[in-house]
Amino acid sequence: MSTSKLAGSPALKTDVMFEGIRYTEALGAAAEHSLPNFYPYRFKDGEHDPTGAGKANIPYLIKTGDETLIRILGNGDSLWSVAGDRKSGYRLVNDADTQNPVEIDFEPMHGWTQAETSDGFPMAQAGVSTHGDMMVINVAPGCEYFLGKVDGKAMRCTFCSYGAPDKRTAHLGQEVGQVGIPEITLQRMCDAITAITAETQIRHIYLVGGSLTDPRQEGERFLQLAQVVKDNNPNSIPVTLGSGALPDDVLQEFYDKDLVQAVCFNLEVWSEKLFAEVCPGKNHYVGYDAWIESLETAVSLWGRGHVYSAMVAGIELEPQYEMEWEQAADLVVQGVEDLCGRGIIPIYSLYYPVGGKDRSDYQSRLRSFFEHLALHYTEIRQRYGLKVWDGFMCHRCAYMQLECDIDRQQNNLEGEE
Ligand code: SF4
Repeated sequence: MSTSKLAGSPALKTDVMFEGIRYTEALGAAAEHSLPNFYPYRFKDGEHDPTGAGKANIPYLIKTGDETLIRILGNGDSLWSVAGDRKSGYRLVNDADTQNPVEIDFEPMHGWTQAETSDGFPMAQAGVSTHGDMMVINVAPGCEYFLGKVDGKAMRCTFCSYGAPDKRTAHLGQEVGQVGIPEITLQRMCDAITAITAETQIRHIYLVGGSLTDPRQEGERFLQLAQVVKDNNPNSIPVTLGSGALPDDVLQEFYDKDLVQAVCFNLEVWSEKLFAEVCPGKNHYVGYDAWIESLETAVSLWGRGHVYSAMVAGIELEPQYEMEWEQAADLVVQGVEDLCGRGIIPIYSLYYPVGGKDRSDYQSRLRSFFEHLALHYTEIRQRYGLKVWDGFMCHRCAYMQLECDIDRQQNNLEGEE
């Protein structure tokens, strides 16, 4: 593909991710039958608010006619809005181009979310969720990096707001210091897996969880989890290990027992300096070099195309790192080159920097950074012959990333030649 500009569905997705969607009654009505957004829509001052409440529930994910999945960000200033209704169909419309609406649907509210496990527990709280055709299993979300400081420094990743072990995780029976996952939690998880796979097509299972300060213990917990998932996966849906980086012998055990078919250990950022600042817990308890070495061990076991690292694209633009977008993009592209050279595929999710919002060019520099990265990244991955394996993720489940959309576009172009 051209390396000068995004086009087609990756371009539409980038537009909607950055510009957001303005509230309309159609969007509000869609919330009644759609997977709910984590963030309610907040009306800005002076914006017409038909709810009278200042905020409204909205759906989480849009699906376009070609199955591109896009996260919805509410924005009263956006030119994008939703029209139509459930019966006649919804349309995404841009005020600057009303003649060319995009037919859309929303990720539905699945029936299993209202069901109960065999012991009468709400299935929605069983630690299993879906987006598109991906099932995410997170039955021990509490992260030990939240629990202590080292030399006065907090160990949690700076961007993370979801890993605190607290009352939100108590219903999963997770207790600090306990490595194993309670049997009752695993049973409820199995009930949820069975219900979900009966209701909707799942093509990928992703095992994630909070970190333990001892990577060997973390490995033990994920071995237990992966074995139970394997025993409850009659259709052999590909499973990805989304733990932190693990010791080599533990990886070998995952491989020998064929518990997972891909791994994704999230380095989050490129460069040792940024890693230490953004992910102090990972840096302290595992270490930057050890993290990359673990990913390399995984490549030697599972092979190229089966080893990933999620990255938070845009955190480099937080003001304390003192980089202009061009410098930040150069740094990230260096990381792409290095990781791809090792057979590791980084996956970039858009991150909205918390600081610097007072800069008038806040949006434009973030967008320039993200587009520059996406285009250069595509060229580098092509050069190394690395495509995202469709057992790991695909365009039907990637709602904040462009890799799968770009690969699909590339495949279509090659098919036409
Ligand atoms: S490892 Fe980092 S991102 Fe993951 S849960 Fe812990 S603090 Fe959050």
